[in-house]
Amino acid sequence: MDTQLSVGSKQLLSYREELVNSQLMFSKNVDLDNVPLYRHYFQYKDNMRRSRLYQMIRRMPKGAALHVHGSLMLDPEDLLKLTYEEYLYICLHLSHLKFYFSRTTPKKPCPVAWKLVEDIRMNHSNVSEFDRMLKERLTLGPEDGLNLDSDENEAWKLFGRTMASILSLIEYRPIREKYIYKSLQNLYDDNVMYVEIRINLFPLYELNGTVHDRMYMASLHNNVARKFMEVNPDFAGLKIILSPSRKLSTEDMQYEVNQALTAKQTLPDAIVGFDLVGHEDGGRSLKEFLPILLQAKNGIDYYFHAGETNQHGTSTDENLFDAILLGTKRIGHANALIKHPVLIKTVHRNDIAVEVNVISNSVLSLVKDIRSHPLATYLSLGLPVVLSSDDPGVWGARPLTDDFYVAFTAVASKHHDLRLLKQLAINSIRYSALDDRGKKKLFRTFEKKWLEFVNVVIEEYDMCEFC
Ligand SMILES: [Zn+2]
Repeated sequence: MDTQLSVGSKQLLSYREELVNSQLMFSKNVDLDNVPLYRHYFQYKDNMRRSRLYQMIRRMPKGAALHVHGSLMLDPEDLLKLTYEEYLYICLHLSHLKFYFSRTTPKKPCPVAWKLVEDIRMNHSNVSEFDRMLKERLTLGPEDGLNLDSDENEAWKLFGRTMASILSLIEYRPIREKYIYKSLQNLYDDNVMYVEIRINLFPLYELNGTVHDRMYMASLHNNVARKFMEVNPDFAGLKIILSPSRKLSTEDMQYEVNQALTAKQTLPDAIVGFDLVGHEDGGRSLKEFLPILLQAKNGIDYYFHAGETNQHGTSTDENLFDAILLGTKRIGHANALIKHPVLIKTVHRNDIAVEVNVISNSVLSLVKDIRSHPLATYLSLGLPVVLSSDDPGVWGARPLTDDFYVAFTAVASKHHDLRLLKQLAINSIRYSALDDRGKKKLFRTFEKKWLEFVNVVIEEYDMCEFC
């Protein structure tokens, strides 16, 4: 019964796919014996990346990443490279780290003096040590002391600090442009073919003092994605879910919703939806903005974060009810959904996809032992699940491979096989915001890449005797 319902169980594998599957399952069993998946992500990350299974999943076409925060997706190594750009000043004091690009010393507040990063590097006795420190400050990692005992609020505090430092680096237009392009490149290299990002629009600046209006940032993403697609025509693009903070006052939220409706009319192809972001337990609930959100419901689609909590019966838990009542197309995280059997049925009936981000839940201390993640139940029930990575840049995860690996190995059943992975990739296209034409095109690309993947694995393992 369990296996008949579960995600992927209806997929039929070809003979050649069965060959790949046997190799995949062999490698999965090796990892189940050798990779300590009961520990914290930071503790098995390197181990996992050396495994054959990881390499196979990395090579596999994974469809789309549908839950990624656009300002937190670039790998720390690439962020560090951006700090080599000229005119970059740094304000570094204890836990405070901010950047600003300027021809002269910035007039912005800083508890110590602003310094040119270039000067620091020139005078530093050990540049790689300085770079290591910078990279650590732009990442959440083992050095931040996050582990299985970490408190969720403490994790979010560290996360907020890291996020502020990253944001200060990418508010400068030329850097943001490079940032977007490189992020798309990394997605593409990770065999992700399409992305929907959540971003809060903010004014980007130029060296000559020009400050662009907020809409400029949306157009910039759209233009860079077009440029990327000219070079890589099989990449299906980037779309935007406008996402202001859930901490805003009612008045400011009304303004944001109005802005989103206008933006949607200005860039109807690029802007596909609206969401509220930030620590759900520490912000305002959907209920508090109900009149505003009800009013705008027909002008823009909703993709709400909801139920990213361990607390039952709180307003965050109940965001799930309001998200569904407001007609959300997908639900971000939905960890608490497991506690609401009636809502699970509604989600199933209304075909609302659940966007699961296992590593984010681990790093932000929501799920201590990842093997107990509610995703296991959602998979068994055959819910419309999509896997994504939330803020992969912040913890140095690959755009999608790490999350696929952890979900497949640590959370899914030992019996779940290639059919699950294929179904998850298919789901990510099916539940995307692309129109029917876009989905059809992406499915065609996916099928082609899937065949290539199957052929490469068969060749590499020299498995094909009869084909
Ligand atoms: Zn998120």
